[in-house]
Amino acid sequence: MAVASGLLFFASILTHEMAHSLIARAYGIPVKGITLFIFGGVSQITREAKRPLVEFIMAFAGPATSVLLAGLFLVLWWLTGAHDDRPLAVMWEWLWLMNLGLGAFNLAPGFPMDGGRILRSFLWGVTGNYRKATLWASRCGQGMAYLLMLVGFASMVRLIPIFEPMSGLWLVVLGMFLEGAARQSWRQTEVLEALRVYRAADALNPSCPTVDVRLTLAEAAETPAAQTRPFCLFVTDQERVVGVLGPASFAEVPRARWLTTTAGEAMTPAAQVPAVGRDEDAASILQSMDGAEMTCLPVVEDGHLVGYVSRDDLLRLVLRHQQLNV
Ligand SMILES: [Zn+2]
Repeated sequence: MAVASGLLFFASILTHEMAHSLIARAYGIPVKGITLFIFGGVSQITREAKRPLVEFIMAFAGPATSVLLAGLFLVLWWLTGAHDDRPLAVMWEWLWLMNLGLGAFNLAPGFPMDGGRILRSFLWGVTGNYRKATLWASRCGQGMAYLLMLVGFASMVRLIPIFEPMSGLWLVVLGMFLEGAARQSWRQTEVLEALRVYRAADALNPSCPTVDVRLTLAEAAETPAAQTRPFCLFVTDQERVVGVLGPASFAEVPRARWLTTTAGEAMTPAAQVPAVGRDEDAASILQSMDGAEMTCLPVVEDGHLVGYVSRDDLLRLVLRHQQLNV
């Protein structure tokens, strides 16, 4: 019964995350995947919503799904007799309580939790300032995390009788995790905001070094273009660009196999590479890079390759921006 409950609860968390992901996809925001881990689940949504209302709907979908699931398990509990002496009924009871708890906990207004995202969407909608809205919502997230740690610690040393000492320890760990997540989310927003003022042209490497698709990785690594950092090699098959080879493509193949692996096998095929326009802003380029799990992207103008932008170049823009704005 414990194993079945555990599995069904994980399925519930997956359903919660699926709700976030499906809404994101419906609004054209790519989702890389869903990760289930010890603290719950995370949808890997590759870019933020462009409008407060979309952010609100996307965030609200998760807790709403959890509450609906709680309702479903409540009905099952009732159908199986709603009695404490029947194992099946106990399982349904635990599941409806846990899902209700999950929905309620996620509605707590601390970014980056769902409630924090809802708070940000409100602040963003009212003030029209995405940056400030994120800052305040993150501060609330940090505040909540410290509160959680405090309650956890007080329970651990039996100062307050709300939770068992072991549950208190769990709350402390959860608080530490949430505090880190809030701080990191804010830093990520800061980086993206810094990049928003720049265009692809500001970070453009105006060269297009090519390697033949049949070259081995060992040979490709010896080419002069691969000696510079950062680099981005365009893989060609009879003058036609068929893919991109960046540092990440090399890192994925063990060095011992560089002699037998061709550029064509290690490259990211052109169809999977998002091309960047010269006027595209640097923040959305970084998000495209993350979405495609690449460290460099080709820049295209009027259907012609004019160079590439690498993650290192974007990082340099962030540093330059921070030095200018100290
Ligand atoms: Zn959620």
